[in-house]
Amino acid sequence: MSTEKAPRPQPERILEATQLQTLIELLQQRGYEVLGPTRDESAIVYGPLADVTALPVDCGDEQAPGVYRLRTRGDGAYFGYAVGPHSWKAYLFPPNEVLFRVHRDAAEGLRTEILGAPATPRALLGVRPCELAALAIQDTVFTQQAVADRGYAERRRALFTIAVDCAAPAATCFCAEMASGPAARDGFDLVLTELCDPPQHRFAIAAGSAAGAELLQALPTRAASAAEQSAVSQQWQRATAQMPQRLPAEEERRALLAHSHSHPHWEAVAERCLACVNCTLVCPTCFCSDMVDRTDLEGEVAERVRTWGSCFEAEHSYMVGGPHRHSVAARYRQWLTHKLETWHEQFGSSGCVGCGRCITWCPSGIDLTAEVAALAEHHGGSTAPRTPGGIHEGA
Ligand code: SF4
Ligand code: SF4
Repeated sequence: MSTEKAPRPQPERILEATQLQTLIELLQQRGYEVLGPTRDESAIVYGPLADVTALPVDCGDEQAPGVYRLRTRGDGAYFGYAVGPHSWKAYLFPPNEVLFRVHRDAAEGLRTEILGAPATPRALLGVRPCELAALAIQDTVFTQQAVADRGYAERRRALFTIAVDCAAPAATCFCAEMASGPAARDGFDLVLTELCDPPQHRFAIAAGSAAGAELLQALPTRAASAAEQSAVSQQWQRATAQMPQRLPAEEERRALLAHSHSHPHWEAVAERCLACVNCTLVCPTCFCSDMVDRTDLEGEVAERVRTWGSCFEAEHSYMVGGPHRHSVAARYRQWLTHKLETWHEQFGSSGCVGCGRCITWCPSGIDLTAEVAALAEHHGGSTAPRTPGGIHEGA
């Protein structure tokens, strides 16, 4: 992921917050199922939005390693929080997906039913910049390899994305240094910057695609003033300043990890890691899966189901004769070095967008940026170059 992306041009239009419902209605009139953030008891999750009242208005959050709690903001903002436990990948790469069914048919013998009906057009409202970057990474993984994932590609084609710049990064966020936020740069149909300064409440709005431009034309907007444009820039700068540098620069980070394959620090992490797989489930870029075949009780129908998998499971590394990453230390090393080092070799970018979910939702409070910092601090003497292939037990 380049750190040299050009900043987004200043938005020229303003949508009053009282017109956010109009945006939802226009999307619905165009046939989209509108999905967005909503409050589910004590977390902000993604789900269907019937109307604007489903948004988590006036909700902020506090996050730290192993800590997540909601709080009341007191200003009525619609998007005044950082990302929660859900990511949009569940709508493109479902946690459970039946790929095909085989029916025993008295007349035809075995009949195979390939699943994957045309995807429902969906509009995602409230996509954070780091999540746009995660979608781009998953596009590379699922659609730009030797064999494209048909279901993912169909669902992606039917997507309309409305990004919202992040104004309230959590203490676990580091999107700025991964060049994925806090302001969205590309990959959206529409982008909003919420300007919430009671009693004034409005959104700077801009289009990023022809479909977005068409919708923007239909919305009741007005020209942005110079003061509003300046408020947008200041918000981008404030949000960036709230995220301190947590990782070495990309080249240094990759060299460090490439030379830390046998470092004893992996064992120190493994003493705290429960191999619970939470970090991989919440991560918006993790894509490992497992295949399960199941039959009904009568033996009339069998189906193949793809489910989310995790490199923290011992079975995930099962090859001839058994798993080759027996220890938790080896599995944690695999996960972290794939995200921040070998992903570059495999897919041409970082596998981490700096959303911070794996830090917040780790029950042990393990923070990958702190582990990289610990490796950097201890580096030298006890490190050795990474074994070619990087998959041996070793740690
Ligand atoms: S790093 Fe944390 S979230 Fe990930 S498997 Fe270990 S204990 Fe679970
Ligand atoms: S590795 Fe952690 S911080 Fe990076 S994208 Fe995944 S969940 Fe977010």
